[in-house]
Amino acid sequence: MTTNTKSKELFARAQRSIPGGVNSPVRAFKSVGGTPIFMERARGAYMYDADGNRYIDYINSWGPMILGHAYEPVVKAVQEKAMQSTSFGAPTELEIEMAELIISMAPNVDMVRMVSSGTEACMSALRLARGYTGRNKFIKFEGCYHGHADAFLVKAGSGVATFNIQTIPGVTAGVSIDTLTAPYNDLESVQKLVNEHSGTIAAIFVEPVAGNMGCIPPEPGFLEGLRKICDQEGIVLVFDEVMTGFRLAPGGAQERLGVNADLVTYGKVIGGGLPVGAFGGKKEIMQHIAPLGNVYQAGTLSGNPIAMIAGYTMLKTLKDNPGIYKELDEKTEYLHKGLEGALSGCGSPFVINRFGSMLSVHFSDKPVNNFAAAASANNNLFNQFFHAMLNSGIYLPPSAFETWFISAALSKEDIDETIEVAGKALNPSR
Ligand SMILES: *Cc1c(COP(=O)(O)O)cnc(C)c1O
Repeated sequence: MTTNTKSKELFARAQRSIPGGVNSPVRAFKSVGGTPIFMERARGAYMYDADGNRYIDYINSWGPMILGHAYEPVVKAVQEKAMQSTSFGAPTELEIEMAELIISMAPNVDMVRMVSSGTEACMSALRLARGYTGRNKFIKFEGCYHGHADAFLVKAGSGVATFNIQTIPGVTAGVSIDTLTAPYNDLESVQKLVNEHSGTIAAIFVEPVAGNMGCIPPEPGFLEGLRKICDQEGIVLVFDEVMTGFRLAPGGAQERLGVNADLVTYGKVIGGGLPVGAFGGKKEIMQHIAPLGNVYQAGTLSGNPIAMIAGYTMLKTLKDNPGIYKELDEKTEYLHKGLEGALSGCGSPFVINRFGSMLSVHFSDKPVNNFAAAASANNNLFNQFFHAMLNSGIYLPPSAFETWFISAALSKEDIDETIEVAGKALNPSR
């Protein structure tokens, strides 16, 4: 059992100056209950909290720490770069190198624009798709998260689902009316929406592997079907690869699943732990962005040199060492198999979904292939599981609607320890 005296003190203090004590809602542990753990430092597979407890990390900063924490080449590159100024507000050669590297790794990306978060990337891609097509509406899927821009906060999964927020105060009906939603993995619903709103849909936004309702892979034919509908109707197909980009393969979900998107959004891994996002795609579409075109988009710190060198170093490492992806897959599969065994005696049915180095556990007796299925699982049991794991030094995402992210820094011994703890988590007598 860990003690959290300092985290408790810090949380009490944080709540006086920061709304809810956190700068992003899911960190507050509201759905799982209890006190959020305040972190002090991390290295490789481990995070250390303010009380000195060590945790094996299965969040990895929600994805960016794919090679583990404080990955030395990234840290060194950032230190060196910082000496040459932390920001110019003028173009640099490094930005070209970053763009060229992304284009060399990602399929169907002729041009790319850097931003500072996944939210910005998705928001900008939506504006671009609308500007390019001259249409207003778009389709997203229930339980998919595309950042917190107004238009996307309809059935937005993850944080929003965790807090059971249905409509968002501050988002006007005028904005939401252009957001159409369909169940994930349900092509028929998409076709129906497209028929009903013929000629008015600018884009279909999709997480090619959903990660914000737990991990939900696309069923065979789903993404291919979206591609076909978009081709038939002149709709821009946007893959939100903020989670999957550079995680599932050097070329992300597009490469791994063999389906082409028109626009792609990136975040998380692309910044190596610094605030970076990007959106890119075909030149024919991207050339509508200002200053080349009339669709306005900008950022004071976009392409920031520290952020770029961190992201560049991370992506270059992944590009030069594609064996990392096989290693990540094998580690995640090993964890998956181990958890299957460990949870078999837990007294509840459960479903483990996995794709590449993304995994999640739902306590459910039915397949979890869309948001409704994820929401109907026994999420109270997940919360119990979460706390039992946390108490034994295993840091899982604090919500059943979040995906676990596996890092290459995890050793077989770390995973074995995780499996052993999981076997006892819901079965203290074992
Ligand atoms: C995290 C996430 C975002 C938002 O990125 P931020 O950097 O948090 O703004 C968008 N889309 C997906 C799929 C994500 O997982």
